[in-house]
Amino acid sequence: MSTAHGTDTGKPVLEIAGLTHSLGARELFTGLSLSLRAGESVAVTGPSGSGKSTLLSCVLGLIAPDAGSVKVTGTEVVGLRPGRLAALRARSVGMVFQFGELLPELSPLDNVLLAALLARTGRHDARERARTLLDELGVPPAVTSEELSGGERQRTAVARALINEPALLLADEPTGALDTETRDRTAEMLFGLPRRHACGLLVVTHDAGIAARADRALRLDEGVLKPPASGASA
Ligand code: ADP
Ligand code: MG
Repeated sequence: MSTAHGTDTGKPVLEIAGLTHSLGARELFTGLSLSLRAGESVAVTGPSGSGKSTLLSCVLGLIAPDAGSVKVTGTEVVGLRPGRLAALRARSVGMVFQFGELLPELSPLDNVLLAALLARTGRHDARERARTLLDELGVPPAVTSEELSGGERQRTAVARALINEPALLLADEPTGALDTETRDRTAEMLFGLPRRHACGLLVVTHDAGIAARADRALRLDEGVLKPPASGASA
């Protein structure tokens, strides 16, 4: 079922079932399943090389898995035609990377507006929304994004990810490049987003301290997602 209201709280925004994928001789995913609803956050942990980024690539449709299903707001991503995939990503998915990955010579505002432009939402109020988001997230006005601190850059990246009101927000090691204090504040901000913006948030991180802030924390272990090892929080 696919409706235009993918961000209704409680609706599944991501449904992964039986995801199986090998890289060479190595089985990275072996029937992995995960379901995420709007308003909810899930963190997936695992050591470096365990396949966290690859999992997000499967959700984005950048990698075609060997088997399994990945549905974003009810639409099957596996096998989706490139044009429709790009449209689904632009409309329904926001992505935050480890280093913010902004265009350094553009202002924070223009970085956020560019995402609205690329999604062709045609919203007249995009500039206003971008400003409001940046204010809410505590990004100071700056002529270029280069002038921002690491934490401010990451907040700008979050504003950019939210500008098109995505049903699903993905973050790959979003705090990996930040100092401890900035890391904690950024994590707090990040995990507050699902309720404020009625989206589902999937964070992949090697940092168990960050993962513990999610509604649900899971670890990637032998190709499937398991509950955190009992008693171990780090
Ligand atoms: P993580 O994000 O958990 O550190 P990745 O998903 O980046 O892990 O990588 C999982 C495994 O896939 C690693 O062994 C990595 O070397 C391998 N890998 C990643 N990208 C590619 C690629 N483009 N081609 C071949 N192997 C890759
Ligand atoms: Mg990675």
